Amino acid sequence: MKEINSSEFEAEVLNGGKVILDFYSTECPPCEALASKFENLAGVYGKDVKFIKIFRQQNRELAEKLGVKGSPTLLFFDNGKEVAGRLAGGIKRSEIIRNLDSMLPPDRVKDIKSNIKPTVSEFDVIILGAGPGGLTAGLYLCQAKINTVLIDPSLPGGHVSTTHEVSNYPGFIEPQAGYMLSHNMSEQTKLCGTIYKVAVDITSVDLDKKEVVIDEFETVRAKRIIIGTGTTPNLTGAPGEKELKGKGISYCATCDGKYMDGKEIVVIGGGNSAVEESDYLTRFASKLTIVHQFDKLTANKKAQDKILNNPKVSILFDNEPRSFTREGDKIVTEIENVKTKERQKLVSDGVFIFIGMKPNIDLFKDKLTLDKWGYIKTDEEMRTSIPGIYAVGDVISKKYRQITTAVADGTIAAMAISKEMD
Ligand SMILES: Cc1cc2nc3c(=O)[nH]c(=O)nc-3n(C[C@H](O)[C@H](O)[C@H](O)COP(=O)(O)OP(=O)(O)OC[C@H]3O[C@@H](n4cnc5c(N)ncnc54)[C@H](O)[C@@H]3O)c2cc1C
Repeated sequence: MKEINSSEFEAEVLNGGKVILDFYSTECPPCEALASKFENLAGVYGKDVKFIKIFRQQNRELAEKLGVKGSPTLLFFDNGKEVAGRLAGGIKRSEIIRNLDSMLPPDRVKDIKSNIKPTVSEFDVIILGAGPGGLTAGLYLCQAKINTVLIDPSLPGGHVSTTHEVSNYPGFIEPQAGYMLSHNMSEQTKLCGTIYKVAVDITSVDLDKKEVVIDEFETVRAKRIIIGTGTTPNLTGAPGEKELKGKGISYCATCDGKYMDGKEIVVIGGGNSAVEESDYLTRFASKLTIVHQFDKLTANKKAQDKILNNPKVSILFDNEPRSFTREGDKIVTEIENVKTKERQKLVSDGVFIFIGMKPNIDLFKDKLTLDKWGYIKTDEEMRTSIPGIYAVGDVISKKYRQITTAVADGTIAAMAISKEMD
């Protein structure tokens, strides 16, 4: 592995055979997350591909010339030509391997793979998920001098890192940008000394053995595991939804409703959460239109009665969204009547989608006791049905899912574990 500056670019990269080039910056958490993977892979692929790092802040001109707009960015070169596609942001080991493999003959790849030595590391506690719940548990455990590792397939922060603004987390007078709040939470836990293994592929989780395999070859074992893997909102799947998420389309009324004062809202869904959240949203909205795929609401009777008598609310039954687009400040939702196939466009200031959340438990759901919606059941100290396995945050069975409640769960689990390990 070698560090270069722009004056060496031509000799080392353009005339350098097969090269992987890492544009990195300082004070860049995804760069830190990449550094150990880059070093490790240099040990594996280093005989065939040159591993080169370049400090972006000091080589801005070259970065701009190459169109590198963020750190870290990995570029791959073969005989002076860029190949294999760039990687940026929270880069996974498997993505780098995929690109490196594409630059080498298959026989050589097989040879290299057969020489990869699996590793095993031992900790007191593994935390799965670096959202507010996991990060808080990590902080408390670390301060109690318990050897802890945080594992996440993404970069730290969970939902908060992609939330536009958070105004209900105590301790801040002004609303906080979600990415800053999650960055601060993550840095606090990391500075304490918690080990981070983030932007990794989770190969398997064995809750009985308390063993997690990441990136295929790295086994991590512990005496306890805390599951803080959160939830994923169900998507409608209509075009434009992913692009407008956080930019006009929201999945959280408590979080984003307050920005809708005097505005028009479209809500997709018709179950309990859609109806209850719609009722809440009418505190702010001047007009709210519910779009529901069936011919009647599926929420409980009390919630239905309330919403049906709310003068701000109208309901379009038998309709499903077909696309979301932005026109200036407005979001245009194209809907289709599933019976008549008639389409119409609803123009609003914001769209809220409540068609259910999915707890992230696919890797271990068969083992744990779950509630009827698939959330993990815990006792009041966050213990699950398996001894030594705890769960915190949005992934557990509970009524209110907020940053504060996830943080509280993380605190409780960590304190319970600290006490047990005394
Ligand atoms: C759009 C939106 C806006 C919101 N705004 C607010 C707000 O303003 N105020 C508020 O209080 N709450 C808000 N919330 C709710 C809040 O974000 C959540 O309650 C909180 O983030 C839950 O924290 P968590 O740690 O349980 O899970 P998450 O934040 O969901 O984090 C879970 C982490 O686990 C990781 N993970 C997933 N699968 C695995 C796996 N198999 N192994 C390991 N790790 C895994 C994920 O990558 C993620 O980093 C909002 C939610 C959404 C969706």
